Amino acid sequence: MARPFASSADLDDKQQVLEVLAEGVYALTAEGDPNVGAIEGEDFLVCFEALATPVAAREWLARLREHTDKPIRYLVLSHYHAVRVLGASAFGARMIVAHEKTRELIAERGEQDWASEYARMPRLFKDPGSIPGLTWPTVTFGDRLTIHLGGDRGELVLRYCGRGHTEGDLVAWLPRQRIMFAGDLVESQAALYTGDAFHREWSSATLDRVAALGAETLVGGRGAVARGKEGVAAAIAQTRDFLTVMLREVGAAGSLKEAFERTHRALAPRYGSWPIFEHCLPFNVSRLWDELHGVERPRIWTAERDREVWDQLQP
Ligand SMILES: [Zn+2]
Repeated sequence: MARPFASSADLDDKQQVLEVLAEGVYALTAEGDPNVGAIEGEDFLVCFEALATPVAAREWLARLREHTDKPIRYLVLSHYHAVRVLGASAFGARMIVAHEKTRELIAERGEQDWASEYARMPRLFKDPGSIPGLTWPTVTFGDRLTIHLGGDRGELVLRYCGRGHTEGDLVAWLPRQRIMFAGDLVESQAALYTGDAFHREWSSATLDRVAALGAETLVGGRGAVARGKEGVAAAIAQTRDFLTVMLREVGAAGSLKEAFERTHRALAPRYGSWPIFEHCLPFNVSRLWDELHGVERPRIWTAERDREVWDQLQP
């Protein structure tokens, strides 16, 4: 029997857990669904990631409001993917902050990405009719942007670490608390999605820059919070290993089909049971095949191309 397309058959709600990582620093994890977070300033809030719809975002905000009623001044988006950004209107943020490439990618391929992700992961799109349209960042930057939190809370530094999961990922870094929100540049016990990635750069210079910041608590894009220097190192090492194995296996293959089979065989023993592994792998291998054959920028995923690649590769 054919495998159901992507995560279209994954309909069970995940348990969401709100954790207070330090005074005024919050993370909501959800068993492998996209993580979100929030950081308190003296008289304002910074929210990190927006979930897939305003209805999903309002559920998160209702939980956050049990801890703080400060107004949301900034909504920070780690990258352009629909399941991270389309809930933005629920936050009522004064500023929506992203990397400058993220804004360009939304203009170039935001519509197609929305349709693609909705078909791949319908469960994440709670009440899709509540989405008012694409999310447009109102503040962008190239290298770094610092938000002063006020009082003795220190600062929140938004950093670009190079191309990785997409062309425009940022990480949000609290140097005083040594806490990082890494977006999808790092996953912790969750499979990687690399369909829009730059595998060679991500697995080397980009992850090196992420690691060099020296986080002691890390919230990845999906999966549990990584705690302690060793826990953070393990999450980064897992992300790098996943990419390195993909590069080795796809690089050794003579055809796209063989590349998929080799990669599946090599990754499944360690990562096969982790969230979204089977869902992501055909798209991941397709993109890496392109990357290793001279296609500089990821081709745009459309709902139609998703199905073609799926039918070609997933047994
Ligand atoms: Zn993503």
